[in-house]
Amino acid sequence: MAEEFAGLVAIVTGGASGIGAAIVARLADAGAKVAVLDINIGDAPTGSFARRVDIADTESVNAGVAAVAEHFGRIDIVVNNAGIGAQGTIESNDDEEWMRVLNINVLGLVRVSRAALPWLRQSPAAAIVNTASIAVTAGLPDRALYGASKGAVYSLTLQMAADHLREGIRVNCVNPGTADTPWVQRLLDSAADPAAERAALEKRQPHGRLVQPAEVAEAVAYLASPRAGSTTGTALAIDGGMDGLRLRPV
Ligand code: NAD
Repeated sequence: MAEEFAGLVAIVTGGASGIGAAIVARLADAGAKVAVLDINIGDAPTGSFARRVDIADTESVNAGVAAVAEHFGRIDIVVNNAGIGAQGTIESNDDEEWMRVLNINVLGLVRVSRAALPWLRQSPAAAIVNTASIAVTAGLPDRALYGASKGAVYSLTLQMAADHLREGIRVNCVNPGTADTPWVQRLLDSAADPAAERAALEKRQPHGRLVQPAEVAEAVAYLASPRAGSTTGTALAIDGGMDGLRLRPV
């Protein structure tokens, strides 16, 4: 299994940080040639092919995907992982903020996938894996906008799986629980007592700890691989049992 992605080319959006960086490392370890498309490529893993792309911008996405295809001559796997957080209720985020977040978290996935589809159609091992969230199924306080955006990611996973089934392109998503990434660390750092806040956050997880990015990457690698050849249109929860056991941190 070590080289199961040998000869295949994978795009990972948001691959410069957190969960995305772990996915880049996992796919590269298994022999994939990995292209990182990220708005901030300063932190992209060394050795990876990286292009600065803003997934909120169609021209930027089209140029980035074209650069990957030109460099490698093929695209087999797309991991739509880039996304941003948003806190608040429907009252606390105005229309502008809704459009900003949906433009990145939802339309970003659409733009990247659309640009890559002509290449995926030519691949004998085509797969798209989207990073959704526990927020798809859990009603979490102060996550109205974020949860709506990730609910759309899940729904798009289903619709795209149906639309591209006969073309041999599988589409799945992962639903991580709270993961130990720079994003979560930034949230903790803004608390009065970051260490106490981290301990409280860990305690709220069913298994008493944060999800590790490498655990999400393992699930992405599985869903992207021929081992999941009969799996499409599914969401795999990586959340310590929160969804499966119907536990909620409310
Ligand atoms: P992160 O902030 O550590 O990494 C996100 C990456 O996406 C960064 O490299 C950032 O530069 C990039 N990015 C942001 N906006 C972009 C844009 N417009 N164009 C291109 N790249 C952009 O975050 P993370 O925690 O690793 O989250 C990655 C994904 O996992 C996100 O989709 C997030 O919603 C999802 N997720 C995270 C958690 C968590 O607890 N960390 C839980 C569930 C789901």
